[in-house]
Amino acid sequence: MAAGKTNPKTVVMVRYGELFLKSDPVKYHFIGLLLRNIRQALEAAGIDSRFESPRGRIFIFTDRAEETARIVSRVFGVVDTNVCQLVAAEPDAVRDAALALAKKHIHPPCTFAVRGKRQYKTGMNSQELGEYVGSAIYDAIPGLTVDLTNPEYEIFVEMRECGGIVYDERFPGQGGLPGGSQGKALALLSSGIDSPVAAWLAMKRGCEVAFVHVDGGRWAGNDVKATAMENLCRLSLWCPQQPVQMTIVPAEAFYDAMQKEKIQPRLRCVLCKRFMLRLAARLSLKEGCLAILTGENLGQVASQTLANLAVISDATAVPVLRPLITYDKAETVDLARKIGTFLGKQGDLACRAVPKMPATAATADAVREAEEKMDIPGLLDAVLASIEYVSAENGKIVKDCQ
Ligand code: ATP
Ligand code: MG
Repeated sequence: MAAGKTNPKTVVMVRYGELFLKSDPVKYHFIGLLLRNIRQALEAAGIDSRFESPRGRIFIFTDRAEETARIVSRVFGVVDTNVCQLVAAEPDAVRDAALALAKKHIHPPCTFAVRGKRQYKTGMNSQELGEYVGSAIYDAIPGLTVDLTNPEYEIFVEMRECGGIVYDERFPGQGGLPGGSQGKALALLSSGIDSPVAAWLAMKRGCEVAFVHVDGGRWAGNDVKATAMENLCRLSLWCPQQPVQMTIVPAEAFYDAMQKEKIQPRLRCVLCKRFMLRLAARLSLKEGCLAILTGENLGQVASQTLANLAVISDATAVPVLRPLITYDKAETVDLARKIGTFLGKQGDLACRAVPKMPATAATADAVREAEEKMDIPGLLDAVLASIEYVSAENGKIVKDCQ
């Protein structure tokens, strides 16, 4: 490891959490994916870097440390990042580096705390290390008070096999698992707030996600398709350098058929969601997706009662994952703001097929009877025959082909 005895090095330290719980082969596989994803994120930003990955940590050597720490904190699987000083694994070296950092960043009078941590069992324990460094800072800088509970300034010192580590700022990560570790899922993406958040949660847990948008044509508001594409662009910012693809299915014929066959309006929402799942199931097969993701949420709208969700799920054998099922709307909105998918502007996002009184407990028999009138297999074939694809990368649509 590159810890110089006299020369502290500025490096970015990356911590990852849940990966520790895995068996060794799985852990190494996941760390490999994490390194790949971090490298791609830095390449997308044009940052040159070099990596070392001693036990339990990743160190990134780069000239653009703070920017790197911020970018890498967005990579799924990362618990936090920080810009740290890497020195020899000796108490005096750690003390000197901590003192230098504190002198730069501390503004007395103020309260402070030193958090010590030791990887091995010999020598000072974690608390002693903290006290040793803390008293050096206290003696050298007038006007300080120790406050271990709620300090205004906090500095972290670690003694690890790879060296002594000192830092005073953390960039909280997203947690989760490295992208690509959990297989691929297909997300039904609308112009709304929920479905991008649902997709993001699955991405955070390591899923690769492909997208499908069902375009209702004249039944959908004028801004629906463009807003779904904007949602795709925002989500692409979470997987830098990797194009995310969305299939757009022109499904006007389905809504026309509901009208033509005089299907009870109250059943429309459930039939619509079943049709969407069937489309997604067909596309999943084609694209190697193992599950379908939706932004559905218990009780949010009439079509999302438990009774209706059961009837909706029954349309396909492909597992349907609903990451937001128990979220309150306010929680979803908060998360949407945090991850950058909350779109302030509102256009015409209405669905013109929604009835005044949707069924809250559509029965399987009523649904089957309605679908038999509509030739669902024929409609599926027809709409899937004219799909379009779009791709987004680094926040922009990069491919828009018929
Ligand atoms: P969201 O739930 O994303 O805010 P919404 O409120 O317009 O959008 P709902 O009627 O709540 O949509 O639909 C529930 C879920 O069905 C959505 O979260 C999404 O996964 C899926 N969905 C709805 N409309 C579409 C569409 N036009 N294309 C693809 N998926 C859709
Ligand atoms: Mg919704």
